[in-house]
Amino acid sequence: MIGRTDLWYKDAIIYELDVETFQDGNGDGLGDFPGLTRRLDHLVTLGASCVWLLPFYPSPNRDNGYDVSDYYAIDPRLGTLGDFVDFTRAARERGIRVLADLVVNHTSDQHPWFQRAREEPDSPYRDYYVWSREEPEEPHDGVIFPGQQESVWTWDEKAGAWYLHRFYEHQPDLNVANPAVRDEIRKIMGFWLELGVSGFRVDAVPFVIEHKGIDPAHIETRNPYEYLERMREFLQWRRGDAVLLAEANVAPEEIQQYFGDGDRMHLLFDFYSNQHLFLALATGEGDALAHALAERPEIPRFCQWAQFLRNHDELDLGRLSDADRERVFEAMAPREDMRLFGRGIRRRLPPMLDGDRRRLELAYSLMFTLPGTPVLRYGDEIGMGDDLSLEGRSAVRTPMQWSDEANGGFSSAPTEQLPRPLVTQGSYAYECVNVRDQARDPHSLMNWMRHMLRIRRGCPEIGWGDWSVVRTDDPCVFAHLVSWQDGVVLAVHNLDAKPRTVSLDLGAYSGRDLVDLLEGRRTLTVDSQRVDVELPRHGYRWFRIGEEVGFQHRESED
Ligand code: BGC
Repeated sequence: MIGRTDLWYKDAIIYELDVETFQDGNGDGLGDFPGLTRRLDHLVTLGASCVWLLPFYPSPNRDNGYDVSDYYAIDPRLGTLGDFVDFTRAARERGIRVLADLVVNHTSDQHPWFQRAREEPDSPYRDYYVWSREEPEEPHDGVIFPGQQESVWTWDEKAGAWYLHRFYEHQPDLNVANPAVRDEIRKIMGFWLELGVSGFRVDAVPFVIEHKGIDPAHIETRNPYEYLERMREFLQWRRGDAVLLAEANVAPEEIQQYFGDGDRMHLLFDFYSNQHLFLALATGEGDALAHALAERPEIPRFCQWAQFLRNHDELDLGRLSDADRERVFEAMAPREDMRLFGRGIRRRLPPMLDGDRRRLELAYSLMFTLPGTPVLRYGDEIGMGDDLSLEGRSAVRTPMQWSDEANGGFSSAPTEQLPRPLVTQGSYAYECVNVRDQARDPHSLMNWMRHMLRIRRGCPEIGWGDWSVVRTDDPCVFAHLVSWQDGVVLAVHNLDAKPRTVSLDLGAYSGRDLVDLLEGRRTLTVDSQRVDVELPRHGYRWFRIGEEVGFQHRESED
């Protein structure tokens, strides 16, 4: 028997946030844990059941905290360990789990391990990193931040050698083949699990496990993916219900390796569908999304996809063909300064969709119904915009907009003390887009999202079930079914700006009724194998086939 609460991540609604930009609790200009704790009720009323925290560790902060200089502490600007435990406890009391970002592909170059490694060739820390005494061949291959990073190897004068860094040069890669490093990773995970987290979003997994630059004599196993099994085993020895959510933007044929037989990562962000979803939104046609979903492997029963639209990075379109990427660029990032690294878009979603509420709802409705667990990002619920005058990915990392008060209610400090300015220009300014106003407006995006998430939580079919695409006679309509136990949910999306009626082939359900889940009433019957569904422009409808609203699923399955 598999219990729904045992596999809680299959039914979760995850909310990504950065403590630094969420809520300042002590008036120093930076978000912090006490501030976040005070805002927990916002997450409860939204319907989130899990928070993913971006890195909150001490850090020189040259990559938004992804350059860690101490894994066993809280950045003192964000609070203390005591504040952290207060937060995880308050979250737990409200039924909200916490995932921490586990950044172990690299450290900051300020980490004492790296400092010792470069200065003391005989210290055990030397082997914590990946060095080359000879000038590495093709050092420009595999650069992740083109334009901001020139090479993946940098000469270190003190060490008298080159060190590997997949990301910025101030982020030396750890040598994960070294048992001492694996031991450290184990301890880091163990530490935060003891402090109340329910698992980790694991940063940059394909690079964590790669053997680039490592002496083959020091590699225990030829199969790099096996390390994921070691991480998983340890996690579950320490905490049976904890999960690993992997950032691994890999090709469909490689995805299976990250899930293994259900004994590696629990969840993977569905980067592949994400990019094709944007292609579908840009072209107004659903085929690309249907194909992308089908190209991904079937995943082990206990594993899960994490569905998302935008996150704290650029929208990476690197898995689309050049022509398709260009179509998304033209539609959603027509200017060069909206793009990044030649492959992505550094905008939040609403401006990408020209602020069109119907298209925004369509995009979220699609994401909420794709097989998997939805991941929202702070500010999504109110439709926050971006600030393209900020450098690189900072454009999408402005502080949360709580109200129309000074600094958007984010902080009482003088504006120049904030980590980044709030959005103050145009229709996305905090005076126009904020939580307090939207809470008072029954038609706001935030109240729409609360409503959608409430209905989404009543549809475990989407998180647990088998999915299939329903053939339609209209390329602008994307329709799919998800079924689990005795429930079947049908979602129909009109990607085009013209209203239409689509005829769906639902032969297997002949004679059964469709209950409209969003409107909550019985509406249609499948007549002679087909049903005609009316859709407004960019319209979306969710149905349950043959059962009442409030249909009860069993708590477990065999
Ligand atoms: C994070 C980025 C970060 C990079 C290096 C990523 O995958 O999402 O924000 O820059 O890892 O740690």
